[in-house]
Amino acid sequence: MAVTRFAPSPTGYLHIGGLRTALYSYLWARKTNGEFRLRIEDTDTQRNNDEAMKAILEAFNWVGLNYDGEVEYQSKRMEIYKKYIQQLLDEGKAYYCYMSKDELEALREEQMANKQTPRYDGRYRDFTGTPPSDIEPVVRIKAPLEGKITFVDGVKSIMNINCNEVDDFIIARSNGNPTYNFVVAIDDALMGITDVIRGDDHLTNTAKQIIIYEALGFDIPKFYHVPMINNPQGKKLSKRDGAMDVMEYKRQGYLPEALLNFLVRLGWSNKDQEIFSMEEMLELFDPSNINKSASSYNQEKLLWLNAHY
Ligand code: GLU
Repeated sequence: MAVTRFAPSPTGYLHIGGLRTALYSYLWARKTNGEFRLRIEDTDTQRNNDEAMKAILEAFNWVGLNYDGEVEYQSKRMEIYKKYIQQLLDEGKAYYCYMSKDELEALREEQMANKQTPRYDGRYRDFTGTPPSDIEPVVRIKAPLEGKITFVDGVKSIMNINCNEVDDFIIARSNGNPTYNFVVAIDDALMGITDVIRGDDHLTNTAKQIIIYEALGFDIPKFYHVPMINNPQGKKLSKRDGAMDVMEYKRQGYLPEALLNFLVRLGWSNKDQEIFSMEEMLELFDPSNINKSASSYNQEKLLWLNAHY
């Protein structure tokens, strides 16, 4: 029984890459008689907008991937996140860092000049002195200093991320608000998500989220990182390659069934079958068969599929 989720950020329209991971998450939850949850990741108050939120929900309704339970809005869960930040501080697994912007910038420049990757140097990790009174501190989590973060990815098999790629990253900003990876890890754990299916652009985030899970003693879900969708020239898909906005497909007269069929095949296959009814997708889909390499967007295939419905 897989509990999966789709977790869009309302910073723009729902794009087909997002809809594809939503579809995979939906199919896997339904196939295993689990649950498919919807979570709106609206903590980035600078970039969020209501229009985008409405557009995402509208697109989601159009394709008919129904979700279970209430929609969770991260903006309404701030107190929960703050409680866990305090817990990590109390347990000595996180700490206040009083570095000013100028100090951070100077450190970055020094590291760049020495051809090092810019990285926080842990200077407040074991700080016991009197903190500077003019700085509102951020909270950083103590990340492992050496070794590797290892996890089994259902698509890519074993992943090893060197700890020196992840520093003591910030989990709360100086205004007390939690950061992106922190809220995602807390929510996935508290919502009981067992299987996280998302784009492979999130791999480094996964390493950070695992550090958070471990610090809080939460069970780590299974991860499936889906390779990107490329254009026929092998480059990252952009607006120019086709309609990226799911509602644009509706405006152009595509049927949701055809779009979902197109997306299920864009990164997953069952022998050489091209046309799938929703029942067949539900019967056959398995995330461990997601392709390991990027898929190529083919507008003609979509037109061809649309003619079959
Ligand atoms: N809000 C993230 C996004 O839209 C979700 C990533 C995830 O699935 O964890 O990319």
